[in-house]
Amino acid sequence: MKSIVIHFMFLSTILTNAQSKFDKYFTGERLRFDYMIAGNFKECNIYTYQFYKEPYWGGSEINLIDTFMYGEMLIEIYDSISDELIYSRGYSTLFKEWQTVGESRLTQRAFLESVVVPFPAKAVKIVIYDRKHNLQFRLVYTTFFNPDSRDIICLKQPLNAELKQPVLNGDPSVKLDLVIVAEGYTTDEKEKFFEDAGWIAEIIFEWQPYNDFKSEINVYSLFIPSDESGTDLPQDSLWLNTAFNTTFNTFGSERYLTSKEMSLIRDAVSDVPYDQICIMVNSEKYGGGGVYNYFTVFSSSNEYSEFLFHHELGHAFAGLADEYYTSEVEFDTMFSLKYEPYQPNITTLIDFKSKWESMVHDSVPIPTPDTSYWQNVLGVFEGAGYSEKGVYRPTFNCSMKSVVNDSFCPVCRKAIGDMIRFYTRK
Ligand SMILES: [Zn+2]
Repeated sequence: MKSIVIHFMFLSTILTNAQSKFDKYFTGERLRFDYMIAGNFKECNIYTYQFYKEPYWGGSEINLIDTFMYGEMLIEIYDSISDELIYSRGYSTLFKEWQTVGESRLTQRAFLESVVVPFPAKAVKIVIYDRKHNLQFRLVYTTFFNPDSRDIICLKQPLNAELKQPVLNGDPSVKLDLVIVAEGYTTDEKEKFFEDAGWIAEIIFEWQPYNDFKSEINVYSLFIPSDESGTDLPQDSLWLNTAFNTTFNTFGSERYLTSKEMSLIRDAVSDVPYDQICIMVNSEKYGGGGVYNYFTVFSSSNEYSEFLFHHELGHAFAGLADEYYTSEVEFDTMFSLKYEPYQPNITTLIDFKSKWESMVHDSVPIPTPDTSYWQNVLGVFEGAGYSEKGVYRPTFNCSMKSVVNDSFCPVCRKAIGDMIRFYTRK
């Protein structure tokens, strides 16, 4: 009993120290940094566009330093006096995906992108890195930020927005907060949006491992009217006026549904204490996109919408890779076989120890034969991450590989659970 009491006292001292660190360096509001990122397949430069102050920081006030190191970009915040690292987070963006498609070898291109961090109470240094082909981070941007500057825009939620909270389990700083945002819903379709969003707020808890965390997640739904119903279908020459200009056919992949208007998206959710933005697109066509710590996009009115939401959220929230390898996806240089990828659910076997090796039973051969005998076993199956050879996945099947509901493999379930705990630790 004594040791439990001492252990508890020790733990609560650590947590009090972590909270006091947050209170020392941050205000409880959110700093949003919009920037232009431009370059080609190997070069990139970042140019300041605008800083914004938003009312609520919804993220953890305890876990300030990223322990996962997923994503193609990394932002770090340093106290400008002591140079102590006080916040860091990995994320990915559309520009970094564009660098893996053929067009980036032929031309230069710029994207307006955006990242959010807790709002600093004092002057800080902001540093941004991108990941090189060898997966090492490379410094691309440094600036000093003064929170008293008059050049910071204070945003409020747009007047035509309507926010509801279908699932509210408590203080955003110790919950995972998802905001479902309307895209391609007209004013007349407001009711449909709230019905669709209510359905998503239910089915999120119907999948493993989310059903183990029912009291740990808040869901918000934000209606913003679009002038027209649906989304752009470039292959059908259909172009619509919608709130966030989402479109199918991103980077030449017909079913890849995204938006390049990250600034408009952040404007819409400026008053919401979110951790993850889910853009729900009012379309019957099968498609979506999930970019790590950036956004989840999915069509709401397809028979596989439940799968689409969860699969894309797997990318955006838990940094999961696609486990499939047969598709028309154009990411021709996505995973180098010379390095261990950072995504938790695929491996090149370069450093399998850092992945799910400890979860595999001693009797399972590595690599694991693709035969019916091993179909229900956790192993190492060749074919994943758009590569038939050299990249391996944990199980024969998984919701990151095939269109199957509630079938995340044990490795994906663990990665999602670990990430939920990162956001919800008190
Ligand atoms: Zn999986």
